Amino acid sequence: MTARVIDGTAVARRVRADVGRGVAELVAAGGVAPGLATVLIGEDPASEVYVRNKRRLSVEAGMQDLHRHLPADADQATVAALVDELAADPAVSGILLQLPLPEHLDSDALIARIPAAKDVDGLTTANAGLLAQGRPGLRPCTPAGVMALLDEYEVPLSGAEAVVVGRSVLVGKPMAQLLLARNATVTVCHSRTRDLAEVCRRADVLVVAAGIPGLVGGDAVRPGATVVDVGIHRGEDGLRGDVDSAAVAEVAGALTPVPGGVGPMTIAMLLANTLTAARVQQGIGD
Ligand code: NAP
Repeated sequence: MTARVIDGTAVARRVRADVGRGVAELVAAGGVAPGLATVLIGEDPASEVYVRNKRRLSVEAGMQDLHRHLPADADQATVAALVDELAADPAVSGILLQLPLPEHLDSDALIARIPAAKDVDGLTTANAGLLAQGRPGLRPCTPAGVMALLDEYEVPLSGAEAVVVGRSVLVGKPMAQLLLARNATVTVCHSRTRDLAEVCRRADVLVVAAGIPGLVGGDAVRPGATVVDVGIHRGEDGLRGDVDSAAVAEVAGALTPVPGGVGPMTIAMLLANTLTAARVQQGIGD
């Protein structure tokens, strides 16, 4: 079997076009174009690339680019004051603090200053709590993007066995909760899981976010399963994921490529969250 390729680039393009239409509708209804404040501290090259792409695509969707940059040696009080300023600014619909921050900064304390209504990364305790309780809120972009891909490809979730590899606050935990909310039977694996391959083989839907290149091989996949590879690793021959894609493609029914799978969806969902935040703040639209 050769797995069907789940084309995240194409789905992300459609999501961004929908967001662009939503922005135009918001403005036509008398609202203000959403403003996205990306906050970059320092000069980490990977973070610079991510932030540049987020800014470019937000502008393409008709949003205001309210980017802010502080030097790598900015202290906690300075960054906190910037977050507070953005929190109070009505032009700012969403605040995205680009992670990881330089080591001398306490990122949890800074995230805690972002108002839940402007938390377009879905990382505040308030939004995590709303997700855990199954109530509406802004969802973390990467797992939300995985759900959008699964829906686009009409992958059945209700009653399905779903296995998530990884339990980070950013990806694994919210991923598990989103799948649970759709009535999948969810198992979460982590670094202490005994016999990872055996647990993964239960999955109809397998989402891998472990941060280890090629961790999941063909032996860990049930024939016909849908496999979503969240991992991103930069190597000498380009990007690769947490899944051994050549081996898994022979067993899985569908597989996300790296690049071109989950990555583009993360930015698309950030834009969708920013539009949602702006609508709620302005009391216009759904
Ligand atoms: P993370 O915070 O490092 O978390 C990794 C998780 O994987 C942890 O829960 C860890 O378990 C678990 N793990 C580590 N080794 C394992 C093993 N051998 N077997 C089973 N589980 C294991 O990473 P993250 O932020 O969730 O990101 C995961 C990957 O996704 C990274 O490659 C990252 O670059 C990528 N990513 C991609 C996007 C995107 O847009 N495509 C967005 C975010 C992240 P413990 O909890 O026990 O330590």
